[in-house]
Amino acid sequence: GEARFDAAIVGGGIIGLSIGWKLLQRGLSVAIFERDQVGSGATRAATGMLAATAEVEPGEDDLLPLTLASQGLWRDFATELEAVSGVSVDYRPEGTMVVALSRDEVDRLRFRHDLQMRLGIKSVWLSGTLAREREPGLRPNVSGAIWCEQDHQVDARLVAKALAKAFVKAGGALFENTKVVSLERQGGKVTGLTTETETYSAGTVVLAAGAWSPELVQGLELPVRPLKGQSIALRMDPRMPALTHIVWTEQIHMAPKGDGRLIIGATVEERGFDKSNTAGGLFALLEAARRVLPGTEELAVDEIWTGFRPTSLDDAPILGEVGIEGLVVATGHHRNGILLAPVTARALSSLIVDGRMDGPETAFTFQRFGKNSDRLTQGL
Ligand code: FAD
Repeated sequence: GEARFDAAIVGGGIIGLSIGWKLLQRGLSVAIFERDQVGSGATRAATGMLAATAEVEPGEDDLLPLTLASQGLWRDFATELEAVSGVSVDYRPEGTMVVALSRDEVDRLRFRHDLQMRLGIKSVWLSGTLAREREPGLRPNVSGAIWCEQDHQVDARLVAKALAKAFVKAGGALFENTKVVSLERQGGKVTGLTTETETYSAGTVVLAAGAWSPELVQGLELPVRPLKGQSIALRMDPRMPALTHIVWTEQIHMAPKGDGRLIIGATVEERGFDKSNTAGGLFALLEAARRVLPGTEELAVDEIWTGFRPTSLDDAPILGEVGIEGLVVATGHHRNGILLAPVTARALSSLIVDGRMDGPETAFTFQRFGKNSDRLTQGL
């Protein structure tokens, strides 16, 4: 007969992999189906910032309990993952500096710092001089900065690699180069999935296919779309002062990695699944980098790429049940999927194994779209 798993996960990005690993730890039999290689979607494009606090904006603080919860889980998640897999994930705890380069930018940054203070976030105001003491490579016109010490970083590609190893070591079935073409249905219920060659039955199907998630469920309008981002990596030069913190300006972020790369990201573009790196996109990134870090124009270009954030109607993730028995989803992580991986794995593993979610994750179900969520689930 056909193979059966307690849980079958569609998508081997950071979200599918993290959920799979946690489900194995809870004693389930688990398979992950990835149509390319693990981590080849948005995960590969991510800078790897675990930024819950630097980017807080007025009105966006609904997400804060979730991002802070996940940030709090990350260090142990990384430590355990590294121990189990033997792969370093380049966890860097220096924190994030948000810098201001003009009077107006200083005003706006003070506003953000005040908001952080009201929300109880750890954030230190630095004068331009203090900012340059910490990061000597910054241009002299940096006239103020905040240091968000909680916002650490990892190398997202290494995390995907480590998760895949940990998953297989723990007994998971990892199918790469295996595209899921449809979900198996019996009555209104999802009972498994079909790849280009096989059908598998599953107690639960977990849809974690990133920006491609909506393609697979007929009758369910998952409000997720691809939001394109272009990034560039430069090779840091030993003759220039290397950055140690992640540095943000109003336009870009720059993240120094353990392998000597400096990632500069990222554009935000409504372009569907257009994979091209454009002159305008790269020019904007490099121009903004040079504005804060003199000498970037001398650095060698290591790589340019594009990725598709899985972005929902309200920019927040969609976690859990969608009104179809046998199916749960974990997508819509937008620009925070690396940060939110540990809390997502916790949410979905407790939903699947214990039958419920707790904590801040309960606010991020499909049902929050209210009346719309009924209209979005049709014809079942
Ligand atoms: P993906 O990584 O896209 O994984 C989905 C997987 O599903 C893919 O591998 C795909 O091949 C597979 N798939 C799709 N359809 C099928 C199918 N039918 N059958 C089998 N497999 C299928 N987040 C942060 O937290 N910090 C950052 O610093 C950060 N920087 C970013 C920078 C850029 C430029 C971009 C684009 C995103 C960034 N993000 C960041 C967001 C983060 O990358 C995403 O939120 C996260 O990777 C989403 O993970 P995922 O597993 O849901 O999706």
